[in-house]
Amino acid sequence: MFTITRSFRWRLPVSVLSFVHHHSHPSTQSIISRASSSKPRARSRMSLPRLPIVSSVSPRVLRVLGCNPGFMTLQGTNTYVVGTGERRILIDAGEPNFPEYIKNLQETMMKYNFQLDHIIISHWHSDHIGGVNNVLDMITNKNECKVWKFDPKIGKKRDFNFPLHIVEDKQKFQVEGATLVIHHTPGHTTDHIVIFLEEDNALFSADCVLGEGTTVFEDLTEYLKSLRLILDLNPTTIFPGHGSVIKDPIVRVNNYIKHRLEREMELYNLINKSSSGSLSEDDIVNEMYKVIPNDYKKVASYIVKNHLAKLARDGKVVLIGDKWRIKK
Ligand SMILES: [Zn+2]
Repeated sequence: MFTITRSFRWRLPVSVLSFVHHHSHPSTQSIISRASSSKPRARSRMSLPRLPIVSSVSPRVLRVLGCNPGFMTLQGTNTYVVGTGERRILIDAGEPNFPEYIKNLQETMMKYNFQLDHIIISHWHSDHIGGVNNVLDMITNKNECKVWKFDPKIGKKRDFNFPLHIVEDKQKFQVEGATLVIHHTPGHTTDHIVIFLEEDNALFSADCVLGEGTTVFEDLTEYLKSLRLILDLNPTTIFPGHGSVIKDPIVRVNNYIKHRLEREMELYNLINKSSSGSLSEDDIVNEMYKVIPNDYKKVASYIVKNHLAKLARDGKVVLIGDKWRIKK
């Protein structure tokens, strides 16, 4: 699955909806509208496994799809309900204004007879935090249900029009049948958290590790550290923010790390072996992502930019004018 070949490389940097949302650009608008469509158009193109709209992925975890499938969000954002009793926790709330999702969540709450005491948001991206207002408007205990996120002052500053409680690293949440522990995992975004479910030895990885493909990141150094933290947690199952349940987390996370380090080496070698000894960012993107459609070049250049930033921090390359060179 992770054999990297040029011919399908462009499929790998997925789940970048939020990236696209917040770095709007005329050529990426089409991605947004495609991703916001309720029709799973991306599926055939990417051959994603079909996921049920609502499913029990463990005796204490229900997965409710955000109903926002697309090239960027895979089968849609996965939101998870955790616990076995009448008071449960929701992890992530999908995108804003997807009534189909809210209806499915409401029906699930009625079917399993529970209320939501907490909503824990993995990070500030719109496809995770965007649906909070819609969920709060639907539930009957809006004023008691607490919404949690890691420090909103770090990372992108956004306006939240609901009371936001600050979750701390290692903070625990307990409801009947489930104990959750928060771990701060910056990289995809600075405020990103993953959530460990002790009873299942499972991890809610949000956008740090995806069920299909790889993800984008704001800071590659931090991102790699966070992947190693996940290895240390040693989960036996990962419930990702997008895509299928991961049954071989250690293999998968090691592959993520390997993939990034291979890309880093490839990029370094490109500069090293170039005839002039220097390359611009555009040269590198065009060389490394030869076959991707133009629409996705922006995403590719975002990834390349972050790789170059890491190589520069590591003292391996240097920017002179608009060209990158190997640092001797
Ligand atoms: Zn995200």
